[in-house]
Amino acid sequence: MTDSSLDAAALRRRTRQFLAAHPPAATDRLDFLRARFDAGLAWVHYPEGLGGLGAPRSLQVVVDAELQAAGAPDNDPRRIGIGLGMAAPTILRYGTEEQKRRYLRPLWTGEEVWCQLFSEPGAGSDLAALGTRAVRDGEDWVVNGQKVWTSSAHVARWAILIARTDPDVPKHRGITYFICDMTDPGVEVRPLRQITGEAEFNEVFLTDVRIPDTRRLGEVGDGWRVAQTTLMNERVSIGGMALPREGGMIGKVAQTWRERPELRTHDLHQRLLKLWVEAEVARLTGERLRQQLVAGQPGPEGSGMKLAFARLNQEISGLEVELRGAEGLLYDDWTMRRPELVDFTGRDTGYRYLRAKGNSIEGGTSEVLLNIVAERVLGLPAEPRTDKDVAWKDLAR
Ligand SMILES: Cc1cc2nc3c(=O)[nH]c(=O)nc-3n(C[C@H](O)[C@H](O)[C@H](O)COP(=O)(O)OP(=O)(O)OC[C@H]3O[C@@H](n4cnc5c(N)ncnc54)[C@H](O)[C@@H]3O)c2cc1C
Repeated sequence: MTDSSLDAAALRRRTRQFLAAHPPAATDRLDFLRARFDAGLAWVHYPEGLGGLGAPRSLQVVVDAELQAAGAPDNDPRRIGIGLGMAAPTILRYGTEEQKRRYLRPLWTGEEVWCQLFSEPGAGSDLAALGTRAVRDGEDWVVNGQKVWTSSAHVARWAILIARTDPDVPKHRGITYFICDMTDPGVEVRPLRQITGEAEFNEVFLTDVRIPDTRRLGEVGDGWRVAQTTLMNERVSIGGMALPREGGMIGKVAQTWRERPELRTHDLHQRLLKLWVEAEVARLTGERLRQQLVAGQPGPEGSGMKLAFARLNQEISGLEVELRGAEGLLYDDWTMRRPELVDFTGRDTGYRYLRAKGNSIEGGTSEVLLNIVAERVLGLPAEPRTDKDVAWKDLAR
């Protein structure tokens, strides 16, 4: 329920009162963040007691602007993107009251990092084919299997996990959604080195991991539906973040263009202008998508946003490499770092060019997102699916 009595002026007042009681310069960062959550100023559209005030989501900007002007610390959203963008909305929608109270506060303050145990070596685009098994044993589930491409698993305390609980029914129906403790002794995390030289993601082996039934999210066998909430939010959180004008990769190449007139050519100028306009259109479309989110859960339209984000990042970073010529091919650092956060615009040209390659794979490949837009936004005929009614155990693998 949204509290319509909370308008922008009321929220501004509340935020100022909060700042007066917790002056950022004199308050420990974590104490400040915890107090902000408890005051309902973390995500104002969440319910009271869970970091929000039941206010319209669109009013978050009012709170953020006041806090920023006062020099308040933030919760480092890039470091905890999977928790904020994907785990939290799923817990809010499907979690029990106890689960919401246990997980949301440390998730938002960044005390507990989350990762996503969805993809497997044999199940990426066809995620519903996943083979990690969860078998009921008393009050627990015993989980065995392998996950892959798990971003941030090396720093995560918790994971959102989907596993097969019933192999005898068609693939979409026998899946259940869990919260997995990454510190469990049965969880082994191994780095996977990417094209950038970094190991942002990992493979994760699950061997007899015991998950109490109290850490199940949603009903047994209903995990595919629960996962849709995560996936729809993932697309919005990858492609639809709020940015100022020139805030994304386009800002980096525009800066090079302004600072290095000797690199300019007529052809590159035309291409830069075209990409600048497209990036600005995508940014403004993102604003519209966020306004739409104010009214409810993200729908398949988020897939269109993520598609545009991936294509533009790849074209813009490619243009930047061309603009810099031989210098753009230099890549400074092949040390295998294990970064704590995903940085789409950081470091040098070579890094941006290489990192952008993953944008059309992570959170659903561009081909698969095109299918989603075709079927669920444009209403075009669906791809033939011959395995919909076949028990998972009888599928060819
Ligand atoms: C940087 C990065 C971070 C990631 N982080 C995570 C994470 O934290 N957690 C997690 O669970 N996963 C993560 N992933 C995995 C990601 O979700 C998968 O890689 C993605 O869903 C594709 O699956 P796949 O790699 O198995 O490729 P496949 O599904 O095997 O696809 C191979 C190719 O076939 C194409 N294809 C497949 N099906 C169709 C179809 N029906 N129509 C047309 N073309 C098709 C694909 O587009 C692709 O080109 C990450 C990936 C990357 C790159």
